[in-house]
Amino acid sequence: MSISTRVDHIEFLGSTEIHRIQKKHLQRHLSYVAHHSPFYRDLFRERGIDPTALCLDSLTAIPFTDKQLLTTHCSDFLAVSPTEIVDIVFSSGTTGMPVALQFTEQDLQRLAYNEEVSFRSMEINSHDRVLLTCTLDRCFIAGLAYFFGTRSVGAAAIRNGLGSVASHRDVMLRLKPTAIVGVPSFLKKIGCFLLSEGIDPTESGVTKLICIGEPTRDLNMALLSGSDQLERLWGAPVFSTYASSETITSFCECTARQGGHLHPELAVIEIIDDAGNRVPTGAIGEVVVTPLGIQGMPLVRFKTGDISFLNDAPCRCGRNSPRLGPILGRKDHRLKVRGTTLYPTAIYTVLDSIPAIADYYVTVSTTDMQADAVTVSVALQDDSCTVQMIKESLQNQLRVGLEVEIVSNGVITAMLSAGNSRKINRFIDKR
Ligand SMILES: [Zn+2]
Repeated sequence: MSISTRVDHIEFLGSTEIHRIQKKHLQRHLSYVAHHSPFYRDLFRERGIDPTALCLDSLTAIPFTDKQLLTTHCSDFLAVSPTEIVDIVFSSGTTGMPVALQFTEQDLQRLAYNEEVSFRSMEINSHDRVLLTCTLDRCFIAGLAYFFGTRSVGAAAIRNGLGSVASHRDVMLRLKPTAIVGVPSFLKKIGCFLLSEGIDPTESGVTKLICIGEPTRDLNMALLSGSDQLERLWGAPVFSTYASSETITSFCECTARQGGHLHPELAVIEIIDDAGNRVPTGAIGEVVVTPLGIQGMPLVRFKTGDISFLNDAPCRCGRNSPRLGPILGRKDHRLKVRGTTLYPTAIYTVLDSIPAIADYYVTVSTTDMQADAVTVSVALQDDSCTVQMIKESLQNQLRVGLEVEIVSNGVITAMLSAGNSRKINRFIDKR
């Protein structure tokens, strides 16, 4: 996408006009990949696909691209000369080796535009100072994206990144940020640390919490108890944003805070069932993203592995662009327990609502009957809670009985820090 075509008002147009604009960008994108991406050029030729004849509905003629294909054919996705690459990030692959994703200058400008539109929809402007608690280095894209967004709306970025909570306290006292970007559990850690130091987070001047990496709402768009606690801790609203490195596209909540807006000039979203068929709007399925206007490693119909749903009703903010609901879980983390389907995030939500639980992880293995056996391991911070009480809470809210065991804080810490993942992994999959 040429940045000269930047049109912030698109999302306020009617849905017919939004579709027309999205179709135009999609056709331009398909024409680009057909001519420049070795992977898609070969795919289209093998399958006899004429990309210029496709529109939003007939996009289904193109097979999905998934992480496996991206891992095994990585270099075939590069659509420009290596001399045009200006930034390279790593994303987890399927072989244990991270996938190198390569971006051009135009891709980074597109990313800046994406975050600018997102930040504007949250009403962040040049009066704001935004504390970024996500790293800008380590070949990550998130920190860079939020730095670009902050800069593009003219706000001041405070790039304290993965600093300690003590360093964030010092930075906050000195520079008085008005918004913080970070993972909800880390924002909670900072808030609790401030409280322990006799500093009231609600008096800190922070008016917005921009939450990345973890969902903040449930299936019914109600705040999760952890997010509700976070809002009360800081006296500031939580805004959820969802993105993936492969698509370098983000979907951020507006001031109405009821799902992340799709920016129609930047992406096409489909929600699919296990058979790969599109599901009706509002139904739950895997999120498939076609990021539009990517130059370096363009993708078509990328299966994110994340489970969510779309809402295409007009938003209270006045935008008519569809909104992506909270991420309910990872497709490959789906659990089948005695006929009930659920995701680990639903278990986390229940555990987060029990104040006596200090920390936890969830283990799944396969029973002799080829079913999933789930064990919830929790560490308690006081004795106001028992195994039976936790079991009952899980049963009542999830409609399924799960095994629960109490373990020490040390066991949890050792389990959560095992492996070399960049993210805390509370889900131990032994299937
Ligand atoms: Zn809105």
